[in-house]
Amino acid sequence: MSAQQPGEHELEIDWTRCDGHGLCATLLPDDIVLDEWGFPVLNGRRVTAGELTNARRVTLACPALALRLRRL
Ligand code: SF4
Repeated sequence: MSAQQPGEHELEIDWTRCDGHGLCATLLPDDIVLDEWGFPVLNGRRVTAGELTNARRVTLACPALALRLRRL
């Protein structure tokens, strides 16, 4: 387990919104894979400050606005 760093965030999925479009796994393949039904599985890795801009872009690209970043 790694120590929490300032500015780290965690990805979250709102399952009431996610429609399994799969775009998030395409855009963030290191953090998200798809299960056999096409729904995302998060690897639980923390998003570092340096990765935040890209991760924010991906949350905005989610067609269902189901992907969120939560500050740790
Ligand atoms: S892009 Fe959004 S709706 Fe599609 S699988 Fe990812 S979280 Fe779900």
